[in-house]
Amino acid sequence: MELIVQKFGGTSVADAERIHRAARRAIRAKQEGNKVVMVVSAMGKSTDKLISLARDISDDPPRRELDMLLTTGEQVSISLMAMAIHAAGHEAISLTGGQIGLITDSVHTKARIQKIGTDRIRQELENDRIVIVAGFQGIDESGEIYTLGRGASDTTAVALAAVLGAKYCEIYTDVDGVYTTDPRIEPKARKIEWISYDEILELASQGAGVMHSRAIEFGKKYNVEIHVRSSFTDFSGTWITHEEEHMEHIVVSGVTVKKDLAQFVLAGVPNQPGVAANIFAHVAEHGVVVDDIIQTFDQSGHASISFTVEESDLSECKLVAEEIRQAYNLSEVICKEPVAKVSAVGVGMRSHTGVAQKMFKALAEAEVNINTITTSEIKISCVIDPDQADDALRVIHAAFELDKEPE
Ligand code: ADP
Ligand code: ASP
Ligand code: MG
Repeated sequence: MELIVQKFGGTSVADAERIHRAARRAIRAKQEGNKVVMVVSAMGKSTDKLISLARDISDDPPRRELDMLLTTGEQVSISLMAMAIHAAGHEAISLTGGQIGLITDSVHTKARIQKIGTDRIRQELENDRIVIVAGFQGIDESGEIYTLGRGASDTTAVALAAVLGAKYCEIYTDVDGVYTTDPRIEPKARKIEWISYDEILELASQGAGVMHSRAIEFGKKYNVEIHVRSSFTDFSGTWITHEEEHMEHIVVSGVTVKKDLAQFVLAGVPNQPGVAANIFAHVAEHGVVVDDIIQTFDQSGHASISFTVEESDLSECKLVAEEIRQAYNLSEVICKEPVAKVSAVGVGMRSHTGVAQKMFKALAEAEVNINTITTSEIKISCVIDPDQADDALRVIHAAFELDKEPE
């Protein structure tokens, strides 16, 4: 008997009718002869609502208490899902992250999965039940409750599919797959049939909110085939798999935008071995996640280091930057916020030239100024003014003709 994991995002369980619909899908998969594990997110926008409730109480709520609060969202939806399956005459059980033995490290609001027990899930599956697991949460070795970062129910699902050896992992959401860009910003975006782990990993980490990036890391590492699809239709969605030869022919697969970023510039940094290592060790100790690191040097023996951080890390990063400024007697620390970042991603960039030029020309024609540029083998990113972000996304999408079916 094969095992499949089905994950339902917030919009797919936003009300009673949608919960019943998701329940019917899981029951159907079971009736087709599969063992079924469901991973469910909090209903609709309830995580956002819980966060705003916390902010009504305090400007800076303790992260431990935020985790305590946010994990309740998933506990509501898993229990309702189990009730829906029972109401349809089938056996099901809801379990929290702690109950299945999903063990994390001890970083509140963005914990990472360390290991996942499978005994409890297997035992319930043996009892012929559909197992419904709360997404986005776990406990550390001491039993404290943690969340895994916004959108991380995807990661719970793919990690479970990996440890359980699932045939595949279905991600049910409110779009019918991964698109060339966010269809809410560019209606001409086109659904992609197949995409490699590397591309979707870049797209997800550069802002394509459709999948949590750590979910893709698990998928790639443990060979989990992921099918992103709509919970409202039966159409096939997007399959995420290892790279195949034909994928190289597509130069750019997708474009993304990330808003609400901040860019730090540390000026007058001593240009000596070990300084960058110490600076970023200090930043990491504070749990601040940085991206787009650029270092340049001048004739005076000094370097300038810039990097971006997400808005959620901004206040912490300001404190760290001030400590670094004092420790190294820096001439200046600049924090520019908010800034936005647009990125173009595609494995075909490895073998095609002129990609950067095309992207910069499109931005220039739209009179978008580029602050900084970073690249990887399969990605080009530009930090720009947030007011121009959506326009920038659309002109890059058009420049690479992403609305047209690839040849
Ligand atoms: P869920 O609650 O099901 O996890 P999310 O809101 O996290 O759903 O993700 C789905 C949303 O991601 C879509 O409604 C869409 O607006 C957005 N999105 C951003 N980039 C993309 C993309 N490249 N392809 C598809 N959807 C995208
Ligand atoms: N409910 C959590 C969130 O809104 C996790 C998820 O939906 O994946 O971020
Ligand atoms: Mg999501």
